[in-house]
Amino acid sequence: MPDDACNSAASGETYDAVVIGAGPSGSLAALLLARAGHRVLQVERQRFPRAKVCGCCLNQRAQQLLDRAGLLQGLRSLRACPTDRLSLHSSGRRLSISMPGGLAISRRAMDQWLAETAAAAGVQFVDDCPAEVLPEDCDSEVAAQHQLPAVRRIRLDSSAGSRVISAKVVLVCDGLGHPSVASLPGFRSDPRADARIGLGAVLTTAESANWLASGEILMVAATGGYCGAVRTEDGSVNLAAAVDAAAIQSAGGPRQCLQQIFRDSGVPVPQELETVSLRGTVPLTRRSLRISGPRLLLLGDAAGYVEPFTGEGMAWGLTAATLAAPLASSGIRAGWTTALERQYERQLRSAVVSEQTVCRTLSWILSRPRVLQLTVAAAALLPAVAGMLVRRVNRIPISLESSR
Ligand SMILES: Cc1cc2nc3c(=O)[nH]c(=O)nc-3n(C[C@H](O)[C@H](O)[C@H](O)COP(=O)(O)OP(=O)(O)OC[C@H]3O[C@@H](n4cnc5c(N)ncnc54)[C@H](O)[C@@H]3O)c2cc1C
Repeated sequence: MPDDACNSAASGETYDAVVIGAGPSGSLAALLLARAGHRVLQVERQRFPRAKVCGCCLNQRAQQLLDRAGLLQGLRSLRACPTDRLSLHSSGRRLSISMPGGLAISRRAMDQWLAETAAAAGVQFVDDCPAEVLPEDCDSEVAAQHQLPAVRRIRLDSSAGSRVISAKVVLVCDGLGHPSVASLPGFRSDPRADARIGLGAVLTTAESANWLASGEILMVAATGGYCGAVRTEDGSVNLAAAVDAAAIQSAGGPRQCLQQIFRDSGVPVPQELETVSLRGTVPLTRRSLRISGPRLLLLGDAAGYVEPFTGEGMAWGLTAATLAAPLASSGIRAGWTTALERQYERQLRSAVVSEQTVCRTLSWILSRPRVLQLTVAAAALLPAVAGMLVRRVNRIPISLESSR
């Protein structure tokens, strides 16, 4: 995209919907709204294609949701690597859990494809252009005294300057901490005190390419955190970790912390980890007080996040997009009501909350080495229980199944 790409969204212009962020939740929501005949602008802070700290594992639920949207063929064309098992290593012990039907795909390729698919459906896509939703009187604590505005205003910033556009509905899909609405009353998203930090790297040397078995998701877990490794479509190995800030400090830095986690788990440290460049995230575990507001819905990581051990984040984001798009569409056509906000909150909570509880429990186990050792030993004896947990997080939510 050219530097002045934001100019293509003219100042003062009104869209049916503005979608902020081009991760999986934003692009699927934008695509579904465009298919419903709406005029949609999607704005993305970073220049695309871009990498992102992520385990890159697309579970069966995520694939089913893409299939529902008629995107399975396109996904297949990306030549994602099939995955069929998780090898969990901790304190020298190894547990292998069968997880058939998974795919590993770099976020650079996946997010670019989904954004291009949305653009082909009519979405106007602008990257390298941070957006901020501007406050309205109706956002205040005495909102009842104020009328719902006819549109929401959004400020777009680019190297060419700032401009303000409007939309009947804004879908906030901007990831952890939802920066584009963080300054609106009630939308602050504070990380939990014990929140871990995400770290990611891509290993590309020949040594790294032979380091993982085909179809395997390798997970190493130790006191300071855990790290997953998987081979993606271009043969490189994607590393993604969630680590304690204190562990980074005591190890002497993020690289040393990752190396320590490999050593403590009993897995040889990949040589390339010595030199590869690392990416980091803001603190991960967050709860959002509000996930909707006047003419606003929050989707995906923007709506709150728990640690990514079970690799479900993309499926949650796609679930949110599948639920939000028809509600946003009805708000655009028939007018926005607070009932739409309540409906979205109810549906989203019932679709993802029980899975987030499973995730939180696993994260709790992973942060306690003794409990983790016992769990690994117990799961080795009771593989059916481990298999049940995996099936549970792979399942499409009942509320979506029935709406097919
Ligand atoms: C260590 C780790 C491992 C993980 N492993 C997995 C896994 O294996 N499988 C899985 O399914 N999930 C995994 N996840 C979770 C997954 O990455 C997220 O849940 C998923 O990316 C959420 O998608 P999203 O569309 O909500 O947000 P994102 O993918 O975060 O996309 C948000 C987009 O919004 C843009 N943006 C931000 N601010 C603005 C702004 N002001 N204006 C415009 N654009 C903005 C960002 O640049 C970004 O492109 C992992 C996460 C971590 C940290």
